[in-house]
Amino acid sequence: MTARILLLGGTGDALRIARTLGPGHVYSLAGLGRVPADLACAVRVGGFGGAEGLARYLADERIARVLDATHPYAAQISANAARACAMAQVPYWALRRAPWQPQPGDDWRGVDGWPGVIEAIAPFARVLFTLGREPLVHLDEVPARQHWTVRCLEAHAGHARARVIDARGPFTLEGERALFEAGRFEVVVSKNSGGGATEAKLAVARERGLPVVMMRRPALPPAQREFESVQDALDALAALAQQS
Ligand code: NAP
Repeated sequence: MTARILLLGGTGDALRIARTLGPGHVYSLAGLGRVPADLACAVRVGGFGGAEGLARYLADERIARVLDATHPYAAQISANAARACAMAQVPYWALRRAPWQPQPGDDWRGVDGWPGVIEAIAPFARVLFTLGREPLVHLDEVPARQHWTVRCLEAHAGHARARVIDARGPFTLEGERALFEAGRFEVVVSKNSGGGATEAKLAVARERGLPVVMMRRPALPPAQREFESVQDALDALAALAQQS
């Protein structure tokens, strides 16, 4: 019987892997974004109920491998998955996209958490946020001297000093240049997601000499096998399928 895979997703990389999985495997999503309806594998949506719930799920569903392809800032599910795998004695594999590295001309300012972001953007008036939906819960805290542009997956009306752009990557260099030109941003706030899909903003910040407030990555648990690319993960899954 084919070794049953549980793929933890919520990223473009995970979706690419999910598209290669057959009906015996499971793709799991938190339920915050779009749920693909055109996959051959099973798709399940929503939390497991912590590490204990996930360990039970692994046993009940006879999962042979967990492949964690969640976002590098989704630290809770990765910690849960590592613990659940240890409890259920299921190997824990992870796709860990390499972080972006600063290049000559970059002015990156590393911060931890939202208070660090607020402190780092204080000197600037026009701010572009590209770190997901977190700024939306702080829209009533926009200082009088600032204007925020928040790009995330959610639609939101915003207000006079906060514009929300709901957009999904990948983003092109040309598109980012036009956005930065129109927005007259003075600083960009980002997570260090790695990968090519959202990297163009960093090149445009460099071109325009803008600082980037970069949220540092959270610590993630070690995995039995870690892959830096989708292809490496696919090769390992193919080898696993041949063994079983
Ligand atoms: P998180 O803080 O690490 O996880 C919070 C809880 O959501 C987990 O404890 C788990 O609930 C549930 N969960 C998360 N991912 C799941 C999955 N793939 N399948 C089933 N349950 C899942 O995660 P987050 O930062 O809120 O991110 C949520 C999802 O969005 C992740 O799947 C991630 O890949 C994706 N995403 C996150 C970011 C980001 O910047 N954080 C960016 C892009 C995409 P239980 O404890 O009940 O199991």
